[in-house]
Order: sequence, then structure tokens, then C-alpha cells
Amino acid sequence: MRIKYDTKKKLAEQIFLLEILKGLWLTLRRLFSRSVTIQYPKERKELFPGFRGKHALIRDPETNQAKCVACMRCSSVCPARCISIRYSVDEKTRARKVDSYEINALRCIFCGYCEEVCPVNAIVLTEDYEYSDYTRQPFHFDMERLLKNWDEFLEKNNLEPDKYLNPFLRPRGLPLGELPAGKRIDVPEEWTYEGQVIWKDGKAVSAKEAASN
Ligand code: SF4
Ligand code: SF4
Repeated sequence: MRIKYDTKKKLAEQIFLLEILKGLWLTLRRLFSRSVTIQYPKERKELFPGFRGKHALIRDPETNQAKCVACMRCSSVCPARCISIRYSVDEKTRARKVDSYEINALRCIFCGYCEEVCPVNAIVLTEDYEYSDYTRQPFHFDMERLLKNWDEFLEKNNLEPDKYLNPFLRPRGLPLGELPAGKRIDVPEEWTYEGQVIWKDGKAVSAKEAASN
């Protein structure tokens, strides 16, 4: 298909260069409007809760090990197939023990499914987004690296391990009783099923309100 260009400009446009004047007017207006860019890295934007950044395995404060129980849900649900887990089974107790846990962060699409599906809140996408490098290898996170990511995230943000909340740790839209025990944690009301806003009779109401009517 041939593209047609309109070469017949109006005489006034040609004489007064209206397009240029329009451009200059736009530039002038932008000079006095509020800037949307920031001077990174001197300035940093405040991230919204649940921003999906660097992966980490949450360390259990009691055992000092990863909370992961090798249920394999995260690796099964991962659409990018970037999580590999190996585990062994204790012959006496039949409990699973994670032998290796790896994430290829270069393949990750940051959907958040892994953290949402984890029944014990062992995996999280932290709000850390500053982890560029020159080679690919540093983005193949093994278990040690994932635990270190967690420690570094807490330290950098001055957080207590058991005080950190991420909206994915308790998925919205499900009543408490339908969540695995490990996900029945206290979260702000707007993150809960009861605080969820739904559309009813042409207006937005909370799920709690809708259920009581
Ligand atoms: S965020 Fe999505 S793509 Fe990335 S590891 Fe988790 S499930 Fe896989
Ligand atoms: S879903 Fe959670 S507990 Fe299960 S294998 Fe993944 S990180 Fe471990």
C-alpha cells in the first residue's frame, strides 16, 4: 500500500510556519508546568506497595533458613519457567527438604504468581529494583543469593523481618478461610476480601457492605 503525503498545505500555514509556532507554544507551556521526571539517583520515587522487584527467599527468624517447604507450587505456576527446585524427602518424617532453589531473573516477567501462590510466604518480589550488572551470571539467583537478597532488603529499608508486609503475601479477593494457614496474616483492610471494592447496582461498594445487604 502506498502512503500518501499531504503536500498541499494551506497558504497561511506555509507563510507563518504555524506548525513551528505550535511546537514552540507547547515547549513554553511545559516550561511552567510541574516536572514529571526526577533527578535519579539523587532523588528516588516512592514505590507503591507491592511493586515487583528483586526476588528474595524469606528467612524464617526461628530457624534462620528459608521458609520454603518444597511444595513446588511456585515453579509449577511460573509462566516463564524460570524457577528450578530440587528437594529430598526424609525417610522417617516424609518431610521435604530443599536441596537447591534457583531463579533465573533474566527470564522472569515479574507477574508475581510465585509469591501469590506460595502457601507459607517463602518467596517474595521485594521493592528493590537496583540490581543492574555487566554479565548474566549475577541474575541466576541460587538459594544463598536469594536469602542474601532478603537480608539486604531488610537492612536497606531498615525493616523488621516479621513486620514486612507485601500485598501478594495475602491475595485479595479470597475470604480468609479459603487461604492456606500461612497466608492468614494481618494486612490493612483494603488488602483483604472484606475491604475489596466491587461493582454492585451501578456503584462501587466494599465486598463487606455488599455481603451485608
Ligand atoms: S514473578 Fe512470575 S515469572 Fe517471575 S519467577 Fe515469579 S512466577 Fe515466575
Ligand atoms: S511455593 Fe513457596 S514453599 Fe512452595 S516451593 Fe515455592 S517458595 Fe517453596
